[in-house]
Amino acid sequence: MAEPVNVLDMTPSDFKTFLDSFDYVFSDCDGVLWSGAPLPKSGEFIEKMKKLGKSVHFVSNNSIRTRENYESKFKAAGIENGFDNLTVPSIAMAEYLKSINFDKKIYCVSCPETVRVLERAGWDCVVGPETGADNYADYIQYLRDDLDVGAVVFDSDYKVNLPRLYKALTYLKRPDVIFLSGATDKYVPLQPGSLILATGIFTDIVVAESKRKPVLLGKPGQGFAEFAMKRAGATNPSRVLFIGDMIDQDVGLGKAAGFKTLCY
Ligand SMILES: [Mg+2]
Repeated sequence: MAEPVNVLDMTPSDFKTFLDSFDYVFSDCDGVLWSGAPLPKSGEFIEKMKKLGKSVHFVSNNSIRTRENYESKFKAAGIENGFDNLTVPSIAMAEYLKSINFDKKIYCVSCPETVRVLERAGWDCVVGPETGADNYADYIQYLRDDLDVGAVVFDSDYKVNLPRLYKALTYLKRPDVIFLSGATDKYVPLQPGSLILATGIFTDIVVAESKRKPVLLGKPGQGFAEFAMKRAGATNPSRVLFIGDMIDQDVGLGKAAGFKTLCY
């Protein structure tokens, strides 16, 4: 495997070769285009890539933002049509479930926006509970199956709790229940030096306990990369440059899919 190269150390001719080595730019959003506020020159860079004839798309694990919020973030960064070219786990999950003609209820251990995306696509979603019973003996209620539930979704739930894990495990006991996982991030930065535990940690608990493997529809899942390529109309992964700020999610996705990767 080739050693990583610092783009800033490239000679002009090496840089030209690098620019010619891809037709598609897939960029992460949080930490690359903005970090709260737009990052300096991120929009300028994206528009420059388009002028050079590159097809630019955005691939984020963040299903939490609403469409309006994403649109205002792209606008603030000076990026045209950002949302139309954005792939996030919630969109990939809806497409996946549509592709298999899924017609049962979905149990969501996810952010409210992922629930909204799935509901808007026509499915009934079950969520919660918000809190657990005081007495552990009452946890028996979370072990009751609901045969109408045919899929369990994990994606960026910052209110995840033990009852939700039990309910997910209960449904996943049936082998025909589909298990989907969006954002796999185990930690999310809140501010420099402060991390918050993220859904990936809890998804891993359910993976281990259920002995089930989820369909990965977030970074670094290869299926998610293929889905993003399909949306972008890209067929050759080696002509895609993936730009991100997370080694596991972004570079990991690039490696799984055969993209070129640029870590910010
Ligand atoms: Mg990021």
